[in-house]
Amino acid sequence: MGLTGNRRAIIQQELNHCNKCGFCLPVCPTYLLTGSELDSPRGRLAMAEAAIRGEVPWAHEVGDAFSRCLGCRACETACPSGVAYSRVYEAARESLYQSNPAHTLPWTVRPLLSWVKNRRRLRRLIRAGRVVRALLPRSLRQLLPERLSPSTRHSLVATPTAAYFVGCISDAVYGEANDAAIVLLESAGYTVQIPTTQQCCGALHMHAGDRPGAEALARANLMAFSGELPVVNHAGGCGAFLKDYGHLLAGDGEWAERAAHFAERVRDLTESLDDAPQTLFFKGQGQRVALQNSCHLVNAQHIADRPKTWIRKVEGDQYVELPGTDRCCGSAGIYNVVQPSLAQQILDDKMQEIQTAQPDVLLVNNPGCALQMEHGSRATGGPPVMYLSIYLKNRLTAANPAEESAPAARE
Ligand code: SF4
Ligand code: SF4
Repeated sequence: MGLTGNRRAIIQQELNHCNKCGFCLPVCPTYLLTGSELDSPRGRLAMAEAAIRGEVPWAHEVGDAFSRCLGCRACETACPSGVAYSRVYEAARESLYQSNPAHTLPWTVRPLLSWVKNRRRLRRLIRAGRVVRALLPRSLRQLLPERLSPSTRHSLVATPTAAYFVGCISDAVYGEANDAAIVLLESAGYTVQIPTTQQCCGALHMHAGDRPGAEALARANLMAFSGELPVVNHAGGCGAFLKDYGHLLAGDGEWAERAAHFAERVRDLTESLDDAPQTLFFKGQGQRVALQNSCHLVNAQHIADRPKTWIRKVEGDQYVELPGTDRCCGSAGIYNVVQPSLAQQILDDKMQEIQTAQPDVLLVNNPGCALQMEHGSRATGGPPVMYLSIYLKNRLTAANPAEESAPAARE
């Protein structure tokens, strides 16, 4: 089964922009690992072009090429011709899924797409997975979180100034990180509302090729977050997808306009803190702090520097920039299940960099990265992994530490 109509034209347009220059190759994590053209953005675009022309089926080599792609979008950032690789990637995954869901989604994780729609069921799935952990394939075992966290506290307030998006995995596993983000927002002067009918963002569905599933979740979120409030979240991948709702529902009648308006209201936590009514102060603990930046925060939201700016505001801690801080960690949704060997190699390189830099703590800003880096750190005796929001919340202080220490410095 191939692509039809408008979507096919969009893909062809992106493919036409590619002049095969290869500037995207040195930033592509899979090409860097294997050196194979088929593991490069240029090679994958060529495969999609051949499939669109009907020269090869949406299966086999095309499936392999896109299954081995992280979807990290580093190639988009590097491309001087502005090729929107992610549009080709999404369409390719959709065609592969239509032709056979097994091309994008192994049976072991297929239930995940329906379970993430309901956060209570997702918790039950994780609990059950932990009971039978020993029976699971290794790749699934390492994906399973060590713990469940209390659900993010929900609230409907009278005069909110921000609405908060909790996410599915974030809520089930990193609820404390959501709570910390809300404390930061409230300390910065926002009144935060957490709509109870909100759903998973749909990114997992879209990356698996299940566009109708992603669209249904997007519509549910448009209803849950109606109005004019900024929609704040702390997960780079979810935030990138929420900001893309305008594109996702562009051809969807009355929903198109609502989706475009919603997308303009989405803010990463760090952006919201930038715009906040009140100034926040942070006091560090003399620690060296590194960051594994969410690749979608970097390459889709284009705000790579925002988390680093906020870490640098912590007086008394030292931000240590890892060479690959903005490079994908190999988690990429369910990539570490679908491509465990490549994901592990990417993680090994990452852990090597961390061992060299020797930070006291490694910060993350996406649930998939958190799971992946926790796994890597456990396996290598690396530093504790902490959500950026928890790190900042733990270092909040009422007074400006720079002013507090000034008289002492003068004495
Ligand atoms: S995607 Fe962009 S950078 Fe890569 S080969 Fe095509 S034009 Fe060059
Ligand atoms: S999205 Fe990432 S892994 Fe995929 S082709 Fe682009 S740079 Fe390579």
